[in-house]
This record gives sequence, structure tokens and C-alpha cells, in this order.
Amino acid sequence: MMKPTGQTLLKAELHVHIEGAAHPELVARLAARHGKNLDAFMRKDGSYIWSDFTNFLECYDQVADVICTPEDYADLTEDYLLRNAAEGCFYTEFFLSPDHVARLGMSYDNLMEGVSEGYQRARTRSLADGFPIEARFIVTCLRHMGPEAAIKVAERVTAKPHPLVTGFGMGGDERLFSQQAFAPAFAIAHQAGLQCTTHAGEFGGPQSVIDALDHLPVTRIGHGVRSVEDPDLLKRLRNEDITLEVCPQSNIALGLYPSLAEHPLESLMQAGVKTTISSDDPPFFASSIGREYDLFQSQTGWSSQEMEQFTRRSLEAAFIDDETRAGLLRRLA
Ligand SMILES: [Zn+2]
Repeated sequence: MMKPTGQTLLKAELHVHIEGAAHPELVARLAARHGKNLDAFMRKDGSYIWSDFTNFLECYDQVADVICTPEDYADLTEDYLLRNAAEGCFYTEFFLSPDHVARLGMSYDNLMEGVSEGYQRARTRSLADGFPIEARFIVTCLRHMGPEAAIKVAERVTAKPHPLVTGFGMGGDERLFSQQAFAPAFAIAHQAGLQCTTHAGEFGGPQSVIDALDHLPVTRIGHGVRSVEDPDLLKRLRNEDITLEVCPQSNIALGLYPSLAEHPLESLMQAGVKTTISSDDPPFFASSIGREYDLFQSQTGWSSQEMEQFTRRSLEAAFIDDETRAGLLRRLA
């Protein structure tokens, strides 16, 4: 590594999909490991090739398919955490999808074996480098797989609690099913002590966030940026102390907003809503947690101390035990 310089502001990341975190260098290595050719989806400079949302999903699937063994997941987790550490990020929460890896013939246990190994390697390295990092995992159900599949995911995760799995969430295609349809799955996870988040208010409007708050035991919303369109909802987010996992470059790359200047992050903050900054599927959007912070800082001209408030709010909303949280907050102070 990769140890950040003394000037680097400390960062934390709450919203990143593990397959979407795969850096092109690593993907090229894994493709070679499995004898797969990804030339149609990667430029020589290592960036990914896609132009519209359908195309993005196709590219994403092709990349995700080369990450298909516990060893691959270990390498990916280690690689991403060390890249984050090099940018000053000392806490990361990953989304994991058992339904995704099942398609590749991997079980949930295989997945946890891989990511735990990768985390331990990165953690050991970070301790040796004098910049200790922490990470946790949020197991997600996929909305387009339907409510029954979601219950199975929740049951599998809660049947065998894992110390690094501290959250339950939902991603996938927002156009299918309602948030309410997944209330039974979330209830199972929540009753077992997992903290919850769901994607809403991204492609879906403010109503999708209202639906999530009405029916799911969530303390955070993935994205939630379109809440800005509804003043009553903003009040509710404030009153219910909900934290938004905002991923600006993802929203811009996927066409929700034309530029950072028109992105609602600042408006959400002005409305008193708790916001954090994450990178979602960073290399697909030519981004990283460091770049997310840097671009927003250039846009606003805020000081590093002001920017570190994003990190503080991330740690306060993190799905982590109080003792670890207090330790991370002390390092920030
Ligand atoms: Zn996401």
C-alpha cells in the first residue's frame, strides 16, 4: 500500500456492491484465471465500455461472471479495501448477493468464506501499514427475484449468524414488486438483529422512499436522492432520523442528473437530511470513494473538516457494534 498521506481526509463508505467494486486490473487478472475474454467490455486503458443503462447492465454481468469462486471474492475484497485505504477510507460496508453467486454455483457459505478471507488479508496488511481498516457486509435480496426468494435469503443469513454480516438490504430492479411485498423478509432479518437498508428514490420517485419507510424496518435508504422532490418526505426523513447513502457519480453516470452542479446532495443537506457519500459501482462510473469526496469538495469549495462530516455521519449510521463505532469516531476526532 498504499498508506494515505497525513493530509488525506478520512473517509467511510456505506454503499458499494461487491461485484461492482471490481477494478479493471483485477478483472483482467480474474478473466485470465478463468480463460475468459472481456475485450468487448474493457478498453486497453482498463476502463469499462458501456453507453446506456441496458448496456451498462450487460457489461456489469460480463464482469461479474469472472468473479466466480471463493478465491476470486477473497482477491476482490482485499483489492478493493486496500484501494480504499490508499484513499483514506478506513471503514467500508459491502453489499453481498447470495442469489447472484448461486447462479455461479457458489453457496452463501462459499461467499462468506471468500470475502472473510479477503477482509482478513486486507486488515492484516492495513495494521502492518499503520492505517487500520474495518469492513462489514450487508446481505441483500434482489427485488426482481421476488418476495419468496427474499425470504429464503433472510432465512439463510439468520440461520447462521456471521460476525461480519451486520445488515440486510435490497437491491435490484426497482420497477418490479413493491417495497411492502418484502416486509416479511425484512422482518426476519430485523428480528435476528440485522440492521436494514433498501434501494429507493433513485429510479423510483419520492413515493418509493415513502413506501420503504411505511413498510420496512430501515434506518438508511440507498440513494433516496429523489426525496428532494417532496418537502413532506424531507421532513419525515429528518424526524425519523434516516440516513441517505448518496452516490453522486452513479446518479450522474446513469442519467438521473446531468452534472454534480445539478445533483441534489446539497439541497438534501440544507433540508436537514442526514447524507453520506458512497461510490455504488465505482470503476463502472470511473469513480472511487476518494474521487466522490474530491469532486464534491471541488464543487462546493468546502474544507476538509467540513467534508469529514460525511465520514462522521457514515460512522454514526454504520451497521456496526457501538465499541467499534466509538473507536472509529475517536480516530476521526
Ligand atoms: Zn446500489
